[in-house]
This record gives sequence, C-alpha cells and structure tokens, in this order.
Amino acid sequence: MHDLRLYGDFRGGPRARPGSCQDRPTSAGCRRKVPAVTEPLYQRDAYLASFDAEVAGLHPDGVVLDRSAFFPGGGGQPADTGTIEHQGAELMVTGTARRDGELVLLVEGGQPPAIGAKISGRVDWERRYSLMRTHTALHMLAGVIGRDHGALVTGGNMEPLRARMDFELPGMSADFASAVETALRREVEADLPVHVSFLSPDEFTARPELIRTKTNLLPPGLEVVRVIDIEGLDRQADGGTHVARTGEVGEVHVVGHESKGKGNKRLRIALDPAPAPTSR
Ligand SMILES: [Zn+2]
Repeated sequence: MHDLRLYGDFRGGPRARPGSCQDRPTSAGCRRKVPAVTEPLYQRDAYLASFDAEVAGLHPDGVVLDRSAFFPGGGGQPADTGTIEHQGAELMVTGTARRDGELVLLVEGGQPPAIGAKISGRVDWERRYSLMRTHTALHMLAGVIGRDHGALVTGGNMEPLRARMDFELPGMSADFASAVETALRREVEADLPVHVSFLSPDEFTARPELIRTKTNLLPPGLEVVRVIDIEGLDRQADGGTHVARTGEVGEVHVVGHESKGKGNKRLRIALDPAPAPTSR
C-alpha cells in the first residue's frame, strides 16, 4: 500500500503537500525527479526489527530504501538507529533525513550501496522497544488526564525511557502528579490492548470521544488515517510505534511537574528499563 499519504504523526508526517510536485511529478513546471518512495513497514508491525530491502535512491551520506522498518522520527518520537548490511559489509544507520520528499537513511562507516543493491536492515531493537514503551506511556498519560481532569494535550516529546507532555490545565501540584502516577499504573495493570487501524477520515472523525490532543486536525486530501487506539482510554491519529498492550509499558513514574505559563502545565515521566521481547 502506498503510505505516503498516511497521516504521519501529531504534527503531520512526511507527506506531499497537496498540489506539490510530489503529487504530479510529471506535470509541466515540475521538473524535479520523482522521489523514491519507502514503504513504512513499522506502521503495520512495530515488532519487526529485521528486514530485507532494495536501495531505491542514493545520497552522498545515505540511501533511500524501497521498504524500511526504521522509524524516521516524528510526532515527538526520535528516529531509529541500527545497521544495514550489503555483501558482508555493515554500515551504521545513525538516523533519517527528509530531503525532497525522500526519507534518507543516514549511514556511517563506508560508502552507501548503489541503487538496486539488496540490503538487510536491523533496527537497534533495545532502543526502539524502549521508545515504544515510552510512546505508549505518553498516550496513556494523555488518556488519564483527559478522562480524569478533562484537559487536552498541547505538546510532548520523548527519548528512550523519559518523556514530557504539556496539558491545558489551570494548576499543577505534587498531589496532582502523584494521583496521575497512580492512575497510570492502574492502566498498566489493566493490560489494555493497543489497536492499530487504518481508517478513512470520515470513519476517524465519526468517533471523537477519546481524542485527547488539542490539535488533531487532519490534513486535507487525506485518503487513509492511521489510528492508535488504547481500548477505552485514548485514540490518536498517529504515525509512531507503540507496544501491543499497556502491560508492556511496565514501571512508570511521574518524575516532574512544572508550570509553563497560564493554562499550560508540564508533566515528566520516566520508565524503568525492561527486557525487550524477541523481535521479528
Ligand atoms: Zn503515538
């Protein structure tokens, strides 16, 4: 499936602007080459860490793959790292850059393989799994505060095992932070399923009751919306990677609370390290 038009993350993903040359690369006035498209394997299987692909585009410092399990970054979740291997030579993948509508996998340790080369990719699974747990914990935080306090999310960011999220709240206190931590842990204990689905924009907007972000406007012209649904708790249009059940989030702590101005309050969370399950 052609996923370029999927809604990538909270702030919009690597999709073509309607009417841009990416949408009509052969029309008059669009003289740029057609960007190589990468099938985002991570959008359907977050537990896929090893994959085979072909080099579809070449840059001095990286490659564009025809398919990839490397999450490219977005919605507050950092890009994956790992390795690609070609004819016995291994290159480090240090991140991703978006250039001219292409997702360039940045490599170090040698020359990027040529267009047409077959490679084997491997995502740094320990780091990615930590990010999946952290990302899911942020959804749970949004869900708990939306449900218990009626506040919407205004922003957020994460690194492995640490994250922050901002809410439209009038006040903040240590007691509030402690109550949120208790509620979060209850939802970990409940081991709720986390569903990934692909809906039409109409199907998505028909059920707004669990949307916890202040800005969840879908870009116009969208064909498919990727939706992350923590059963009964939180529902987002989202391009990131998440664990399959809230129990996998494990030990979660609220480690900080601060005011970022009137009507904008920040909570910080931290997760204990936990062994990653076997990846695919
Ligand atoms: Zn998410």
